[in-house]
Amino acid sequence: MPADPVPGTGHAPTPGPGSNRPHVLILGGTTEARRLAESLTAAGAGAPYRVTTSLAGRVTSPALPPGETRIGGFGGPAGLAAWITTHRVTHLIDATHPFAERMSFNAAEAAALSGVPLLALRRPGWSPGPGDRWHFADSLAEAAALLPDLGSRAFLTTGRMGLHSFAHLTEPWFLVRSVDPPEGAVPPHLEVLLARGPFTLPDERDLLTHHRIDVLVTKDSGGSATAPKLTAAREAGIPVLVVRRPPVPAGVPQAASVAEALRRLDYDQPR
Ligand code: NAP
Repeated sequence: MPADPVPGTGHAPTPGPGSNRPHVLILGGTTEARRLAESLTAAGAGAPYRVTTSLAGRVTSPALPPGETRIGGFGGPAGLAAWITTHRVTHLIDATHPFAERMSFNAAEAAALSGVPLLALRRPGWSPGPGDRWHFADSLAEAAALLPDLGSRAFLTTGRMGLHSFAHLTEPWFLVRSVDPPEGAVPPHLEVLLARGPFTLPDERDLLTHHRIDVLVTKDSGGSATAPKLTAAREAGIPVLVVRRPPVPAGVPQAASVAEALRRLDYDQPR
């Protein structure tokens, strides 16, 4: 197989002795995608799979996972299907963020077009526990409509891409935490904290206290453990506005953890 350039990274993958190994394409951008790539490449040249992780290119300096990487959109489902065929991908894993709705539907359509099996690696959502004061919204726009009744100093952790949904809110003060600076329309009373997780419970407690936060806004990103920000909000007795997950494509097999995805891959591995 020819060595294709890796868009956006300036280097080419090395076609090794295992270039006829099964080829796993991981649609990434999450911690789980990175862990999966780490596990699948742990044996180095002796690993049973060739692994490529695809990133959307939203973050300026992404932490690249091991294995091969490519960065940028494919040009819709047909483009992804063409990439799969050209690069002899044998397994497609949608390990994108639960809120990357379009890419998950693209993956399902591309898998159908190319005939390659698709597995969605989707971490479980969060559930409220005793002492939690959660309110739910079906979208960022609905969250923005509910927010003014819940608090006036909001810790907004829904990511910089959706900030425009809150831009018309002139009364609340917002603390926004993101990896890169926000672009486009933002609310007028805003402080930006540039930081990359994971964050600890003591960090989150300090942050809520220091900024006198009285409402937390989050997507139901989920994960194996309760996020420290949710625990800190419960301890502080402040309400949490949770944006529910978007729909997922029907009929796609799912794994809830990296371990489960690895088990399924072994099972699927051509023999
Ligand atoms: P999206 O709305 O579902 O996707 C928009 C377009 O971005 C897709 O149509 C695709 O372009 C491209 N794209 C998305 N993920 C890609 C990937 N892994 N590799 C190559 N192209 C990709 O996605 P999004 O919500 O903007 O998220 C973008 C990326 O950030 C995802 O990879 C996701 O895992 C990560 N992320 C998202 C969130 C979130 O809250 N949405 C949070 C953390 C991380 P083409 O149609 O041209 O192929």
